[in-house]
Amino acid sequence: MKSLEVKAISKKYKASNNEAVQNVSLSVSAGEVLVVVGESGSGKTTLLRLIAGLEYPDAGEIHFGEKVFSSNMVFMPTEQRNVGLVFQDYALFPHFDLMQNVAFGIKPKGKERTSRAKQYLEMVGLGSSTEKYPHELSGGEKQRVALARALASNPDLILMDEPFSNLDTTNKVRLRDDVRSLLKDENKAVILVTHDIEDAMILGDRVAVMSNGAILQVGNPEDVYFSPVSSYVAELFGAVNLIHGSVSNGQFVSNDEKISVSLSGDNSGNTLCLRPECLELCPPGQGLADGVLEQSQFVEGNYRLTLKWEGSTARNELTIRSTSNDWQVGKKYGWRIVTNKLSIVDSDEP
Ligand code: ADP
Ligand code: MG
Repeated sequence: MKSLEVKAISKKYKASNNEAVQNVSLSVSAGEVLVVVGESGSGKTTLLRLIAGLEYPDAGEIHFGEKVFSSNMVFMPTEQRNVGLVFQDYALFPHFDLMQNVAFGIKPKGKERTSRAKQYLEMVGLGSSTEKYPHELSGGEKQRVALARALASNPDLILMDEPFSNLDTTNKVRLRDDVRSLLKDENKAVILVTHDIEDAMILGDRVAVMSNGAILQVGNPEDVYFSPVSSYVAELFGAVNLIHGSVSNGQFVSNDEKISVSLSGDNSGNTLCLRPECLELCPPGQGLADGVLEQSQFVEGNYRLTLKWEGSTARNELTIRSTSNDWQVGKKYGWRIVTNKLSIVDSDEP
């Protein structure tokens, strides 16, 4: 099976002091969606442009199956790489109708080209709008055309740069679900880059976390969520309680020695990471420690509880997710861990 192999690729722009992409290695196989997630400026677009052949790398190699995309000897031009590109701003031809836009990249000319373009417009739900022009479409529809165009050219590899970031929430969610099933049917290798964690969780077979040009962690979404490699990755993926302390003899002990947690397996690091759903409240004195419930907010069908706890956390509080609202703000409760999905990481700010 053909796969993309990126090996130790680096790129520094002339105008800049830092490398936009730093020694990045990754692989994606046919049928797999890799989502690269990172904050703005982390190097995601540069990475895609290097893979597409729109930038020259300073070091490293990119291969796809038998093809060498780039190495210190070779630089294959974009049009020979057979990649389909989908950008944030759609990049449609304004003076072409939808049929012409999608037909553009299809190699065989004539009837076959038209029928293939029609087929892909139908696939993205725009089969009855083939004669419309891009300015007559909503953002979500434009992005559907861009996707149809990318798929219709039968690429080996699809590269998508923040494809949903210009869309409103409803359009985004609908298109994202459709994209997921379309990509699965097409059995292509796909890299999608985004700053949106939800995109990564929903679309990624695997997720790569990028920061300052480097890949910090690659794994399936659940592993990255529950077993982040650092407090930075932990916080990027959503609310997390970070308790500072140290590990000895299979126990994590907080800096103030207020809590001690038994660990299974090998662990090292100075910070215990606990997601809000890994904690629960209990009667005072029956948990690891006691605190006072400060606030309860109803969020996405659950209660987000804030417990004031004078422990080794940055803000002296814990966030706990509860399915019930049987708690009284202002009252004292105990808290305890209800899972083995805890992880220990190294953090810069113990
Ligand atoms: P992202 O897509 O994650 O926002 P980019 O790849 O666009 O990140 O940018 C990575 C870094 O490279 C940033 O610091 C950005 O300012 C810089 N950069 C991007 N494009 C250029 C360019 N053409 N010239 C100089 N610096 C650039
Ligand atoms: Mg970008």
